[in-house]
Amino acid sequence: MAVNAPRMRGALDAVPAFEAGLSRFGPVQHRMNFNENHFAPLPSVLDAVRETAAGFNRYPDMFNSTLIEAIAGHFSVMPENVAIGAGGAAVLQQLLLAAVDHGDEVVFPWLSFEAYPILSSVAGARQVRVPLSGVDQDLVAMAEAITDRTRLVFVCNPNNPTSTAVKQDALDSFIDSVPERVLIVLDEAYREFVRAPEVPDGISRYRDRPNVAVLRTFSKAYGLAGLRVAFTVAHPLVARAVRKTALPFGVTRLAERAAVASLRAADELFARVETIVKERERMRGTLREQGWPVARSEANFVWLPLAERSAAFGEACRRKGVFVRVFPDNGVRITVGEDSANDVVLSVAAVFARR
Ligand SMILES: *Cc1c(COP(=O)(O)O)cnc(C)c1O
Repeated sequence: MAVNAPRMRGALDAVPAFEAGLSRFGPVQHRMNFNENHFAPLPSVLDAVRETAAGFNRYPDMFNSTLIEAIAGHFSVMPENVAIGAGGAAVLQQLLLAAVDHGDEVVFPWLSFEAYPILSSVAGARQVRVPLSGVDQDLVAMAEAITDRTRLVFVCNPNNPTSTAVKQDALDSFIDSVPERVLIVLDEAYREFVRAPEVPDGISRYRDRPNVAVLRTFSKAYGLAGLRVAFTVAHPLVARAVRKTALPFGVTRLAERAAVASLRAADELFARVETIVKERERMRGTLREQGWPVARSEANFVWLPLAERSAAFGEACRRKGVFVRVFPDNGVRITVGEDSANDVVLSVAAVFARR
């Protein structure tokens, strides 16, 4: 059969295929496996989307100038520092396509965001995975993994799925030690949930570093996961390249208007973020009282290092109507959800703690 089929790229063999059915939720009532924001959209943002919906027979603004200017204004950078895409994953892909030629190396921590190996392979890069040290990124080992062939390195701050963040001193020395020709992508998808003062804000701290591109998304704290919009703040030359590798018209007018309305409603949204942070601390406190060694989280999820019991834990939660994200033989990532759903997971954890 394969004889008559067109040849597909060998690099894709290592990429997991999304099979129909995998995303079916069945009787599950709570999705705590995607790090979504469980709050429903803000009325002001929903209104902006509704007003825009009537115009979807038209293409969006090709340059998304309104959103780029709004982001630049909000984060006190120039519009030429900003490039956007249809979600953080799209912007990561644009960054890879902008920096990496076939066979170049991409360095990233592992375990980390699952899109890094997938998007690196799709871009034709060679993956260099640097193991975590416990639950933390090992920036010294990552710096050592950089060779003449390295074009891009991902730092995930805080790290998905282990929830911990690298601190300013370590990040400063890492960035100092990386050659300027290597692009450092500082993935701050969860920046708004960071509370530890020693974790730097990438945009304000590294904006003058030509080889640092900071990734932010509207999917998590801003609650726009379903609309697909995110951005990078980078050197104008990098941002320009990232605009070139974008899919034309990828960011819809609905997403653009929702993002602009969300920046306007930032105070209201951040009150919700604060609620999620408080609930995260309650969950971590309870888990630690149960005896679990749960690391400090700077994101909207907690990491339970269940090792070989991860799958059983996920199944026990699913039977109670809650989906958590299982990393087999490693751990479970639990998104902070509604209080009642969190309580379900905490009660399952209490049972597992006694075993
Ligand atoms: C969620 C996430 C993103 C971006 O996700 P999008 O939904 O594509 O915006 C980027 N990086 C990390 C580490 C994430 O967890």
